[in-house]
Amino acid sequence: MAARILSGTAIRDQVFAELKEEIARLAGEGIRPGLAAVLVGENPASQLYVKSKIAACEQLGMASWLHTPPASSSTEDMLRLVDSLNRDENVDGILVQLPLPPQVDTKKVLEAVDPAKDVDGFHPVNLGKLVSGRAGLVACTPAGCMEILRRNGIAIEGANAVVLGRSDIVGKPMALLLMHANATVTICHSKTRDLADVVRRADIVVAAMGKAGYVQADWLKPAAAVIDVGTNTVKDSAEAERLLRNFPDRLEKFRAKGSVLVGDVHPDAVNTAGALTPVPGGVGPMTITMLMSNTVKAAKMRRGPSRTAGQSGQPLAAKVTR
Ligand code: NAP
Repeated sequence: MAARILSGTAIRDQVFAELKEEIARLAGEGIRPGLAAVLVGENPASQLYVKSKIAACEQLGMASWLHTPPASSSTEDMLRLVDSLNRDENVDGILVQLPLPPQVDTKKVLEAVDPAKDVDGFHPVNLGKLVSGRAGLVACTPAGCMEILRRNGIAIEGANAVVLGRSDIVGKPMALLLMHANATVTICHSKTRDLADVVRRADIVVAAMGKAGYVQADWLKPAAAVIDVGTNTVKDSAEAERLLRNFPDRLEKFRAKGSVLVGDVHPDAVNTAGALTPVPGGVGPMTITMLMSNTVKAAKMRRGPSRTAGQSGQPLAAKVTR
């Protein structure tokens, strides 16, 4: 039986509708959430990402600002810009689009962002809050994966969850979120032995490796829910033929275009998994969605009347002062 398709675009539309209501309510309190995006240089992929983030702000009626320092900017230039955004009361979220040019110390710049405005959830303060289960800003891609699971009614508590990948921005926060939701979590990486056997025990699989079609269809339990974070552009025709041999329409499109986007899970998994996010149209749209959600959350935490209480009644860390 074909897997249930877990559409990220459908959930994005639901979340956007909820955010619009929240933004209208905040407007009544005189608050307009705002996102400042910093795009250094002329990387076309980065330009495209930032453009869609700004467009999402506009669609939701949030304020947005685009800062475009030249590719020759130094670490000090970037730190000055971040500092001015940290001090700007109208800015709730700061997004520094990566990668930064090689002469810029990326870590230093990201750590200079006020944790209260760190809507990417990359700051060590926010990572620390996630580890200790306190309310904070959570990295957008794993937060989006959790929305997909929750809004599709997939049971997390007590489930065996396997996370493939341990990066700071996807694998690690994903594993922590699943653990806090009471899953039993196994984290796999490039040195994991017998990966297929580990995956075979999973009720929930989150694949974030960056390896096209690596997770084979016969590794999956029939009822497994599979969240495919991978976004791999395949250009090699032998590889595309191998991955898409059972999908003539997609193969046709590949032949016309010369490339195809494939996840980390083999497309044949649609015939073996219980539920599956498509690529594209699964996790991808949720990343921008959660960036918008984090910006609204940051606005409420910094300036809303409820800023003294966090989610689930947990205390928020004190607002950073300088
Ligand atoms: P990353 O930093 O390159 O991390 C990849 C992880 O996968 C590493 O932990 C690595 O293990 C592990 N890995 C590599 N080969 C493996 C193997 N054969 N078996 C088991 N684990 C293996 O990548 P990332 O930034 O987390 O991104 C992962 C994927 O998600 C990429 O395709 C990326 O494009 C995609 N992504 C998508 C979105 C979205 O919005 N849809 C957002 C972010 C990322 P080691 O630690 O041992 O090296």
